[in-house]
Amino acid sequence: MLQVKNICFRYKKQAVLENISFHVKAGDHVSIIGESGSGKSTLLKLLYGTYDLDEGHIFWNDSEILGPKHNLIIGPEFMKYVAQEFDLMPFITVSENIGAFLSNFFPEEKQERINELLDVVELNPFAKTKVKELSGGQKQRVALARAIAKQPEIILLDEPFSHIDNFKKQSLRRSLFKYLKEKNITCIVATHDKDDVLSFSDHMIVLHNTEVLANNTPKHLYDNPKNKLIASFFGEFNEINGEIVYANQLKTVDKSELKAIVKQSYYKGYFYLIEADLNGEIVFFEHGTQLKKGKTVFLNQA
Ligand code: ADP
Ligand code: MG
Repeated sequence: MLQVKNICFRYKKQAVLENISFHVKAGDHVSIIGESGSGKSTLLKLLYGTYDLDEGHIFWNDSEILGPKHNLIIGPEFMKYVAQEFDLMPFITVSENIGAFLSNFFPEEKQERINELLDVVELNPFAKTKVKELSGGQKQRVALARAIAKQPEIILLDEPFSHIDNFKKQSLRRSLFKYLKEKNITCIVATHDKDDVLSFSDHMIVLHNTEVLANNTPKHLYDNPKNKLIASFFGEFNEINGEIVYANQLKTVDKSELKAIVKQSYYKGYFYLIEADLNGEIVFFEHGTQLKKGKTVFLNQA
């Protein structure tokens, strides 16, 4: 179990994180979300022991994770961290990078392991390609494979799919998180992508103004977004009579109290997102077909 107890941290004067506490059970997947600059990357770096804490403690089971003042080598054995800016060895191949920290005593087993990892990140065709010849997204996949090569007990991922295009992202995400679950590897992922969270996280922690604003299951926070920041993470929403209503929860009906005038229809694939004027306020709702600008509609909460 990972235990974060009342940690505080500042780079210079400005506090980035204050009194942060939470715990993560072994094998659980937790996502850290929050606006850009809210301290997600800083928190992951602290969990890895990159900096000394100003206050508080971090434990993985019985070992305390200590910063550079107490440790010559940053990063405990049982933990791997994949930074937003991944550092690979550019002049050697993908396979050599992935195998860099694997033992050479059993060359056949080593090769099998590399092949298994190439499968997880779908990079088999590039096994013999030099890393410097890869795209950003491909490099990010090499960094992920290298981080899981030695099966850490816990892995920290900072926006792990940020350089990976939509064609690959969905299947890579499924394959990586499935692999980590199967191996019971605890995973903490900083992300701004709700698709990393909804299907794959046991808990999500929302950072805001140096604090933990919420810590619960994605389903609980989706169903009860207690403020606009959390709602906006999940999608387009409205505030109607002080209540948060997602765009997909508003439907057109024959008659209702909520009379709105259509302003714009945005094509979204299997639906249109409609922007409308409700008594001078902008509202958004989802609709199966395009609606003409100026049309009067009546809305109700589904
Ligand atoms: P996030 O990952 O959520 O975008 P960061 O953890 O990167 O947020 O940054 C949190 C805050 O700390 C920001 O205000 C950022 O400018 C500041 N910060 C990040 N890294 C450093 C650094 N090395 N030195 C000084 N300030 C930093
Ligand atoms: Mg960051």
